[in-house]
Amino acid sequence: ERAFEVLSRVEERGDNRLGVEAMGLLDAYGIPTPQGDIVDDASDAVAVAQDIDGDVVMKIVSPDILHKSDIGGVKVGVANEDAYDAYEDLVTRARNYQPDADIIGVQVQEMVDLEDGVETIVGMNRDPQFGPLLMFGLGGIFVEVMEDTTFRVAPVAESEAREMTREVKSAPLLRGARGRDPVDVDGVVETIQRLSQLVDDFPAIVELDINPLVALPTDGGDGETEDDRGVAAVDVRLTVD
Ligand code: ADP
Ligand code: MG
Repeated sequence: ERAFEVLSRVEERGDNRLGVEAMGLLDAYGIPTPQGDIVDDASDAVAVAQDIDGDVVMKIVSPDILHKSDIGGVKVGVANEDAYDAYEDLVTRARNYQPDADIIGVQVQEMVDLEDGVETIVGMNRDPQFGPLLMFGLGGIFVEVMEDTTFRVAPVAESEAREMTREVKSAPLLRGARGRDPVDVDGVVETIQRLSQLVDDFPAIVELDINPLVALPTDGGDGETEDDRGVAAVDVRLTVD
């Protein structure tokens, strides 16, 4: 299975952490991820950017850099013709931050509409007593400052996953508060369930965070195409035992 391949990569590396290289694992479990690829060459970055509609996001991929934006390791809205320089710049920034950093490459990723979407966080922490604890919250200040989160022990049924999306204080923002468009809550519920399945299948994963999982408007958004709807896991990191 594809999921096993992703996880065996961590072991080969002699490390226990994975970043956006784990996107394939989400993909294998049907959790939507933006189009994109990881490259280790600036020319390849241009080629991948050209295959993606519009501007792209570029991110440094390194097990030594867990919080990519903290070191300027995420560039949003990169035009095709800037992808080459952006690649070189990201690698330079990583080297400046930590000269001996293990750099796998750069991820070139489709842009997700954060303006109309809502950033959420779906995560899992394996508790020695309770087992895999699934976490849900809304991104940004809601989780980081207000600690507005909710937990359930995996595996979760659909009804429990739905409860999670209702009981955080910031929940009304998902359903169209303050004149905003309601976002795809069903997509979030499904993602929580799929993550539940994933961590149930792989006891070796002790921690996993999708941050952010962007929930997109169900209608009235920018476009009317299928692509403008649903959810998108734009960032992931996990730790294995
Ligand atoms: P990190 O959490 O390691 O800093 P992320 O991949 O989460 O890195 O990127 C940081 C932020 O950049 C995200 O929280 C999001 O606001 C923005 N971002 C990342 N990827 C995309 C994308 N594909 N489309 C739009 N915005 C993005
Ligand atoms: Mg992130």
